[in-house]
Amino acid sequence: MSDRIEGLILKQTDYRENAVLLTVMTAEYGKISLVAHGARKLTSKNAASLMPYARIEFLFDYKDGRTIFRLQNARTVRLYRHLHEDLVLSAAAAVVCEVCDLLAYDSLDAGTAARYFMETDQALELLNGGTDPDVLLAVYISDMLQEAGLAPAADGCAVCGDVHVVGISAEAGGFVCAAHAAELNVPRQSVTRLRQFRLLNKASLDQIGRLDGLIEKAGDDVAVLIDILRLHAGLEIRSFAFYQRLNAIE
Ligand SMILES: [Zn+2]
Repeated sequence: MSDRIEGLILKQTDYRENAVLLTVMTAEYGKISLVAHGARKLTSKNAASLMPYARIEFLFDYKDGRTIFRLQNARTVRLYRHLHEDLVLSAAAAVVCEVCDLLAYDSLDAGTAARYFMETDQALELLNGGTDPDVLLAVYISDMLQEAGLAPAADGCAVCGDVHVVGISAEAGGFVCAAHAAELNVPRQSVTRLRQFRLLNKASLDQIGRLDGLIEKAGDDVAVLIDILRLHAGLEIRSFAFYQRLNAIE
């Protein structure tokens, strides 16, 4: 049976002769791989629809128990144009898509798959629409960590729950109190920075506009959340290093 559904292209890699392998996040089937034959030929009618970070509608043959399928045809529903034109936005989109790719393992339940799809699509939409990339990444990664059962501690110390917090530790998993900051050798942070970390972790993408004017610079917060993914989920977000280097140049 052929199914026509929508998906987000998280990744595109060359695959055999003239073919590309697409990693696609869907609400209905979770993360799947699609082989697009002939896509590297300039004349391919599918080629323009196979850009990374785009939302496509496509036709494929679904078979139970498989995760790799042959793509029959595809058309772009949302291209997210600015993500292809601006280097920083493109690098941020790469981080969004890699986080989704690594968190979405093959046997996600349907509800979780649908939420990952919607959350990631919304993140690309906001990024394309001009939301600050650091703020977007912080809120997106925090939301995804929460979905994955790894919500950062943003109400009290990650170790003991004490609400009097003085620092932020990726190793501990969020805020730390004075005693645990000393024990873990974590530097103290300003009240502004602590409040900002809390706001970014409490916000959802739906209400990201409410953070306007409240966040000074969220780059350090994104780095903490990327470290939490590495230390607590064992996931290395490789595209983040490039994003950081770009931001250092700007
Ligand atoms: Zn503590």
